[in-house]
Amino acid sequence: MSDTASFMSRIREWSSAGEGTGESPARIRRMVAAGVQPPRIAILGAGAGGLCMALQLQDAGIDTFTIYEKSDGVGGTWRDNTYPGAACDVPSHLYSFSFAPKTDWSRKFAEQPEILDYFESLVRDHGLEPHLRFGVEIASARWDEDGQEWELTTSTGERITAEVVVSGLGQLNRPHVPDLPGLDDFEGTWFHSARWDHEHDLRGERVAVVGIGASAIQFVPRIAKVTRQLTLFQRSVNYVAPKPDRRFRSWERWLLDRVPPLQRAYRASIYWRFEARFQLMRKGSRLGALMQDRFGKEISKLASEHLPAEALVPDYSPGCRRILIANDWYPTLLRPDVEVVTEEIERVTEHSVITTGGREVPVDTIVFGTGFHSTEFLSPLRITGRAGRDLNEVWAQGAEAHLGVAVPGFPNLFLLYGPNTNLGHNSILFMIEQQVGFIRSLIAEQMAEGAGAIEVTDAAMAAYEAEMLDATSRTVWAEDCSSWYKNEAGRVTNNWPDYSIKYRRRLRRRHRGDYRFTPARRGAEPERPLTTSGAAPPR
Ligand code: NAP
Repeated sequence: MSDTASFMSRIREWSSAGEGTGESPARIRRMVAAGVQPPRIAILGAGAGGLCMALQLQDAGIDTFTIYEKSDGVGGTWRDNTYPGAACDVPSHLYSFSFAPKTDWSRKFAEQPEILDYFESLVRDHGLEPHLRFGVEIASARWDEDGQEWELTTSTGERITAEVVVSGLGQLNRPHVPDLPGLDDFEGTWFHSARWDHEHDLRGERVAVVGIGASAIQFVPRIAKVTRQLTLFQRSVNYVAPKPDRRFRSWERWLLDRVPPLQRAYRASIYWRFEARFQLMRKGSRLGALMQDRFGKEISKLASEHLPAEALVPDYSPGCRRILIANDWYPTLLRPDVEVVTEEIERVTEHSVITTGGREVPVDTIVFGTGFHSTEFLSPLRITGRAGRDLNEVWAQGAEAHLGVAVPGFPNLFLLYGPNTNLGHNSILFMIEQQVGFIRSLIAEQMAEGAGAIEVTDAAMAAYEAEMLDATSRTVWAEDCSSWYKNEAGRVTNNWPDYSIKYRRRLRRRHRGDYRFTPARRGAEPERPLTTSGAAPPR
């Protein structure tokens, strides 16, 4: 490429950052118009990933897809997490799909109801209702080699077939509640932050919060205003940075809504500002050392007899755990009716929590902010691929997928927000858009080739995984801190270890040799819609 062409390509990249890949829709539309039958596609989950996949298929003229959602609504994590103060820590104007931007966000960091409303509006505005089946949980999936299709079984025993399966289950959908001895005997109320009990009134109660991460940092300041005594059981300390949040002024909203180039430029500026923060994620970064030093000096000034420095100052590099943002965290910790306990919990009794140091804390309610089963990707879904390969067994040492999307031995199965695609520094919706574009281009290839199955090769997977292991070992996530980015063996299975723009470039490259296309078998019936055994096509 000439210097000028390369420069222009960088300019295009700069201005379109935050957008997904967009090369295949016209090609697919032409094929569909010419009578090429698209595959029958089952999308699992109606969260951000599932909806993005559906919208981008629809955009390419494909309507042979159904989204199976176990709950009765869309929005995934933004539907599940309704705890007080739930909000996104990515600025609103970057937290929407580039092809369906929301231009009238009410504040810089939107709260959960507004984000959920955005995802619900996508369904209404794009007519996705006929493609959604609610209350359907897929329990298992088995690849049928002869039929070149997946046989899905729901939790109620219904059987469904599809040629392509796209999982939009993501990384943070199954709440983790620690197996604390005595919890079953607790006579008060307990619940997880992702299953907030809105019927339960915390006013005037003695409340324990177990686990202090991204969720707790948001709900603790809210509930502290109403509880009588709040005890925070904090095992690991977080870096909490200021949150530059405020409502947009009416003229700002007007301009961003009515002047599209301004909205796009604003979005791109947020993307690049956040992108620069990846520098912090590199092991041994000078910026990280500087931040650790400054943060330690500033925050330790808040320490007192009531609030020891060890409860305030992390002993690991910034970014090893997610860096949190809030303006009301430290003021909340300084309240006289809030206490941070750093000892581990030994057990729970009928009316109290007992620490390993023998201290008994009487409580009425326990709220678990203990995160999710983040490294057990796709679990408890049982997936059996080619030659009876069980995905849980393949992933026994840690989940891995080529580009986070495909696994050898599991043809026509694609993952969204899969292994090594989480970010500690930028928007996940950006990553999802890249994956959706990539999967759509694989589907285009499959249609063009008349292929019945498409599968990543073992060699491509092995080379990619070696690269991931090497790259993650050079990040702060591999350091000695506890985080949901790594599995029990310490392998970083969740995060993409580079700038997100590099992920985008990577997915835009052709990966022809890395994927094997198997011709469609004679006798396959490409005209069928998604089928349910013995029932009408699910629509
Ligand atoms: P989390 O960050 O994984 O935090 C869970 C906390 O629970 C950790 O501090 C962990 O401590 C603690 N914990 C686990 N088991 C425990 C036990 N047995 N006893 C005591 N403490 C225990 O979970 P989260 O706060 O739900 O957030 C998860 C992720 O969701 C975030 O990182 C983020 O990606 C996403 N999220 C995003 C936003 C947003 O604004 N975009 C908001 C909320 C959540 P150890 O680390 O010591 O194990």
